[in-house]
Amino acid sequence: MPEKKTKFIVITGSIMSGLGKGIVTSSIAKLLQARGFNVVPIKFDGYLNVDCGTMNPFRHGEVFVLDDGTEVDMDFGTYERFLNKSLPGECSITGGKLFQKIIEKERKGEYLGRDVQFVPHLTGEIKAWVQKVGRDNDADFVLIEVGGTVGDLENGYFIEALRQLHFEHNNMAFVQLTYIPSLSVGEQKTKPTQQATRLLQSLGIQPDIIITREQEKLTEESKKKISLYCNVAEEAVFDDPLLQTVYELPLILEKQGLYAQLAKKLDLPNKEADLKEWHKNVTHILQPKDRPLKIAIVGKYTAVKDAYISVKEALVHGAAAVNSGLEIGWIEASDLEKLGDVAEVLAPYDGILVPGGFGERGIEGKIMAIRYARENKVPYLGLCLGLQLMVVEYARYKCNLANANSTEFDKKTPHPVIDMLPEQHQISKMGGTMRLGAYDCKVNAGTVAHAAYKSDTVSERHRHRYEVNPNYVKELEDHGLVVSATHPKGVVEMTEWKGSFGVATQAHIELKSRLETPGPLFVEFMKAAKDFRGKPSKSAGETHGE
Ligand code: GLN
Repeated sequence: MPEKKTKFIVITGSIMSGLGKGIVTSSIAKLLQARGFNVVPIKFDGYLNVDCGTMNPFRHGEVFVLDDGTEVDMDFGTYERFLNKSLPGECSITGGKLFQKIIEKERKGEYLGRDVQFVPHLTGEIKAWVQKVGRDNDADFVLIEVGGTVGDLENGYFIEALRQLHFEHNNMAFVQLTYIPSLSVGEQKTKPTQQATRLLQSLGIQPDIIITREQEKLTEESKKKISLYCNVAEEAVFDDPLLQTVYELPLILEKQGLYAQLAKKLDLPNKEADLKEWHKNVTHILQPKDRPLKIAIVGKYTAVKDAYISVKEALVHGAAAVNSGLEIGWIEASDLEKLGDVAEVLAPYDGILVPGGFGERGIEGKIMAIRYARENKVPYLGLCLGLQLMVVEYARYKCNLANANSTEFDKKTPHPVIDMLPEQHQISKMGGTMRLGAYDCKVNAGTVAHAAYKSDTVSERHRHRYEVNPNYVKELEDHGLVVSATHPKGVVEMTEWKGSFGVATQAHIELKSRLETPGPLFVEFMKAAKDFRGKPSKSAGETHGE
């Protein structure tokens, strides 16, 4: 059988960052997938970090983790949520990984005495990498999202590699995303798009498709101008308007005929897209049958919503699954600590969620929120740190272990109910050293988790250094905490309350929730929130939640 020839679609962004390239990339990928093609996205990030693991979510948004444990840019979350599939770590290319590879090869003497250069060595490495991803995944299409903006120093060599690949391969399409500012209503300015396209052309690349972001709908006049100045047919200029939900974009681009333009360029068959399920889910988000469920996310990075993007999206999926609207309240945990009574803030909510996190700030506020949820039977979902603090709260207030804590926050606690994983003690390096990636765990029958997953074995993704201290499990269980899942090596993976809905997982279950296959515990959480909604909560301070 002749080797399948993967086609490449490159997505570049121009003018400014933050235009939503990841969503455009995912949407184009979805339109191809909906026609039965096997699509794999690649993201290039120009920074010199090897991966995202060491980056602060305040500055860079969430660190996403793949099954194989690779810590990647949050765009991967968008890809997986749209494509409903798990991607391998090789889909993430960073400046750091590329240079590391080149330098390792040089040290081994693999360049046979030559001087090592950006062209052809680095560019050759890039071309080989993206083609390998196509082969490894038997892809019909590899979509390559180029991080940053055209004209940046950081991605110049990467764009050069793609220019070369286009010349050699001639099976590629280039999509450029631009921004159209308006000075006043109806007065759209296409000049930045013209100049941005000229910049790309000066790098030897002619875009085949231009997609524009703007405040209002792209006018016919703007389209004509872009076409004239940028050498792109009018039919190949697309509008990416402001949307209520990102999941709508594939439908919008489909309506505008994006596939036909790709088909023309890449010689693709005329195929209908099957977007029925997608359409149904988007309708549930845009016009839910039931009024909104109010969920409080009690976290530490709530000022930067991107830090919890997968949690937010998993709630969107859960709400769509129960056909309800969603209203998220972002609550800064350290603010709760200043209050005598957290009911003031938490009483309006139908559910409380404590997401993952690191570091001491806000920990006591999160524990206060969990205690409030338990005592008032407000549905609770805890993710990673949210499980660890559920255990700390239970130890302190149900098992009467005063000052119980995680050794992450109090090295001298008399009751270290959460302690470092044994394999973490010797580690001194920061990058890539946590317990990372997908692990199987065994779920016990008769638990909420088992009913949700409908399976004895569950695989979810991890990113943590601490775990429930095995020495305290019996005591916690004796006081009524349910251990609903465990890792084969014994690590507690999920815990539950008995008297009301409260479930927590050591894994980041938000990372595998997708619009078409929502995280089972998010769906259960939303169901519980729906049941709880409107029920008057008991007064805070009551200590017998069960
Ligand atoms: N800080 C905790 C740990 O390292 C929780 C991590 C997380 O929530 N991702 O175990």
